[in-house]
Amino acid sequence: MPFHSIIGHQRPIKWLQTAVHTNHLGHAYLFHGEPAIGKRYTAMALTQFLHCEHPTLDPTPDACGTCRSCHQVEQAIHPDCLIIQPEDTQKSNPKIKIDQIRAIEPLVIYRPLVGSHKVCLIDDADTMTTEASNALLKTLEDPPDHCLFLLISSRPEHLLPTIRSRCLALRFSPLPVNAIEEFLGKHKAMDAGDAKLVSTFSEGRLGQALHLDPEELKVKLRQYWALLFGEQHASATQIFDISESLVKSNQVPEAIYWFQQGLRDVLLLALDESSNPMLYCDQEPALRQLAQQMTPAAIIALSQELNQLERGQQRNLNMQIGLDQFFFHLQDHLDYAQTHE
Ligand SMILES: [Zn+2]
Repeated sequence: MPFHSIIGHQRPIKWLQTAVHTNHLGHAYLFHGEPAIGKRYTAMALTQFLHCEHPTLDPTPDACGTCRSCHQVEQAIHPDCLIIQPEDTQKSNPKIKIDQIRAIEPLVIYRPLVGSHKVCLIDDADTMTTEASNALLKTLEDPPDHCLFLLISSRPEHLLPTIRSRCLALRFSPLPVNAIEEFLGKHKAMDAGDAKLVSTFSEGRLGQALHLDPEELKVKLRQYWALLFGEQHASATQIFDISESLVKSNQVPEAIYWFQQGLRDVLLLALDESSNPMLYCDQEPALRQLAQQMTPAAIIALSQELNQLERGQQRNLNMQIGLDQFFFHLQDHLDYAQTHE
């Protein structure tokens, strides 16, 4: 994947192209920003460009994407390139361990075989253990001239400050939703409605958009819409049942996400901001009615209540009581609006 096939990220890409072209490439970079937005693709594109057998310089510096070196980088088997990422990704808290960082040593001792640099790409660098971080720090303190370290992280604040200070940081921003929508339509032959839904859900993360199934999203939308706004005069028993079933099926985090999105869509309409993409757009008439029933202040208060619930999960708060309370407050706002019409 050369630079020209990456969607967005013009600023960091232009920076890197210019740095290579003018011989100003540093020894260590930190690519940071939201998960799944293209940081690793850009790191791979830079690696390809440094090793490409037929690079182009016009109109912009780039790899050919088709030579042997480019293919080897793409398949992660290039002899001058080492990719390190957390092991045991099946576990809830995968880590990069010290043995993985020690594997860098033999790579950096010798000069590159093919291109100008030995490249070490460390994905999810913030998952390094303390021992691994300290081992990397030693190498970063005195890197050989022919070495390039590319650290990738969506949580740069979890990296050692001493590692961060030795890297030039390039920030990657989420893509505009319509750029993802266009990409899905053009390259994945997705129909317009599905592309709109998937791109809105991805929140600017192309890597995530490519793995989403629009049919699964539609099922979730229907399910959580019914729970949130399906019953405008829910009895206490109905509310207890909904909360209990969400807790028992471990669906609380997911439910909080979808409820937040529903409230966000109502708020957009209440504030007359309907040009922003909405997840529940197929419910627009009902959303408009809700936007008239509830004040922006009430919608924001409900949303804050969900935020507190989300934080409460880490502190082992009783989720069922929290959800019951949220639903009672929601009903309060809806009933109040109806009795004052
Ligand atoms: Zn090439």
